[in-house]
Amino acid sequence: MQNARNFYINGQWVAPQEGRDFDVIDPSNEEVYAVISLGGKADTDAAVAAASAAFPTWRHSSKAERLELMESILEVYMRRSDEMGAAISQEMGAPIDMARVQQSGTGSSHLNAFIKAFRDYEFEHAFSEEHQDTRIIKEPIGVCALITPWNWPMNQITLKVIPAIATGCTMVLKPSEQSPMSGILFTEIMHEAGVPAGVYNMLNGDGPGVGSQLSAHKDVDMVSFTGSTRAGRAITIAGAETIKRVSLELGGKGANMIFADADPRAVKQGILRCFNNTGQSCNAPTRMLVERSRYEQAVEEAVRAANATSVNAASLEGRHIGPLVSELQFNKVQDLIQKGIDEGARLVAGGVGRPEGLNRGYYVRPTVFADCTNDMQIMREEIFGPVLAMMPFDSEEEAIAIANDTDYGLTNYVQTTDPERARRVARAVRSGMVDMNGKARAAGSPFGGMKQSGNGREGGPWGLDEFVEVKAVGGWPA
Ligand code: NAD
Repeated sequence: MQNARNFYINGQWVAPQEGRDFDVIDPSNEEVYAVISLGGKADTDAAVAAASAAFPTWRHSSKAERLELMESILEVYMRRSDEMGAAISQEMGAPIDMARVQQSGTGSSHLNAFIKAFRDYEFEHAFSEEHQDTRIIKEPIGVCALITPWNWPMNQITLKVIPAIATGCTMVLKPSEQSPMSGILFTEIMHEAGVPAGVYNMLNGDGPGVGSQLSAHKDVDMVSFTGSTRAGRAITIAGAETIKRVSLELGGKGANMIFADADPRAVKQGILRCFNNTGQSCNAPTRMLVERSRYEQAVEEAVRAANATSVNAASLEGRHIGPLVSELQFNKVQDLIQKGIDEGARLVAGGVGRPEGLNRGYYVRPTVFADCTNDMQIMREEIFGPVLAMMPFDSEEEAIAIANDTDYGLTNYVQTTDPERARRVARAVRSGMVDMNGKARAAGSPFGGMKQSGNGREGGPWGLDEFVEVKAVGGWPA
C-alpha cells in the first residue's frame, strides 16, 4: 500500500504541505499500526484547486466515458475486495468474515446499483408532450466535498464518489481519520481504474482542520456529509456563507415495533440487527418496543440472544462481534450504560466493563435494558454500541407515538403478520426508511432520513439527483 501519509491530488500521490502525524490504532489490541497525516489549509486548497481545474472538462464528458470509468472501478474493486475487507477490519474492528462480506460488499453492491441506475438516467428531456420547446437539463453541480465516517467506510464512500463521478462532478474526498486505510486503498483503486487527473482527489484530515476548511471553501459547490448530527450542523453553518448545497446523512434511533402477532423469530432478529457491526450503524434498531402481551417473553428471548453473542478480536474468523472503533467511543458507550442504570432502566444482560477475558481492546459487553421509558437518555441518544433498550406498549397508536417521539427519523422497523397494520404503521412513522418483517429494501432504493437524521437521499436515481443542478431552457429549437 501507498505511504499512508500521502494525499492524492491531481492524479498523483503527494506529500502533505502542512501534515500533522496521526496514529492509526487497531481497536482489537489498542496498538498503533500505521501513521497518516492530517492535512492543513494549503493541502485543502491544493485539492480543491485540482478539482476546480478538472471540472470544465469532466462536466462535458460523455455518458459512455463515465460508464466506462464506473465499470473499470467496479472491476478493480472486485479484484481487491478481500484486501478492502482486511483494511476495514483492522482499522475499525469489524470481524474479518463480516468485513469481507458486508463491509467491503457494500462498495461493490452500490457500484452495481449505480451503474444500473445510470444507464436509465436521463440528463435531458422535454418538459412535457405539449411543451417540447421547454428543455430540462440536469447538469453537474460542480466541485463536491465528500466527508465520510468510519462505521461503514466503503458504504459511505461509494454512495458519494460514484454518483459524483456519474453526474460529471469533480471532488475531494475526506475519509474519517478513524478509518483512513480503506480510504487510501479506495484511492489506489480509483487510480488503477484510470480516473482522470483532478476529477477525484483524496485528503486525510480531521473535522476542525480539513473538514471545516472544505465546508467553508468558496470554490466548493456542494458538501455531501455522513456522520454525526453535531458535525452536520457545523457543516451546514459553515456552508451557509457561500450558499452551498449541503446533503446530510446523520444519526438515528430506530424503533423496532414488535406486535403480538409477529414472527416468533422477531426478537432474536432484532437483537442481531441491533448488535451487527457492534451496534455502530446509524440505522440500527436500538429501541425495541414490544406489545405488552408478548413483552416479558421478549425480554427473556433478548437476554438469551445477548448472552449468546460472543465478542472477540476482528482478525478472528467467525460470527462474533468485534470491539468498538476507538477509546473515545468505548468511554462514551460505558458512560451511557452507566447512565441507563442510574436512570432506573432494568439491566437484564451485559453492563459496564469489558467482556470476560478481554482486557485490552475496545470491547463492550452486549447489553440489554428492559422497562425503559422514552424520556431516558438511553432511549433518546444514539449510543453506537451493542446496547438495546426495550419498552412495552399497549396499542398501535402508542407504538407509533413512541417511535415518532425522537429527534431522529432514519429507519423504523415493523414486525407484524397483519398486512393492513403493516401498511398503516409504515405510513404513520416519520422516517426516511421502514423495514418490515426482516425483509431488505431493494439495492439502489433511496437511503436517507427525516428530521435530525438529515436531508439527503443516497442510492439509485435519487442519489444521482443529489449531485445535479436542474436547468430549464425555454425556446429550445425543434
Ligand atoms: P463524526 O461526525 O464525528 O465524523 C464524520 C466525519 O466528519 C469525519 O470524517 C470527521 O473527520 C468529519 N467531521 C467531524 N467534525 C467536522 C466538522 N465540524 N466539519 C467538517 N467535518 C467534520 O461522526 P463519526 O463519529 O465518524 O460517525 C458516526 C456518526 O455517523 C453517527 O452519528 C452515525 O449515526 C452517523 N452515520 C450516519 C449515516 C447515515 O447515512 N445517516 C451512516 C453512517 C453513520
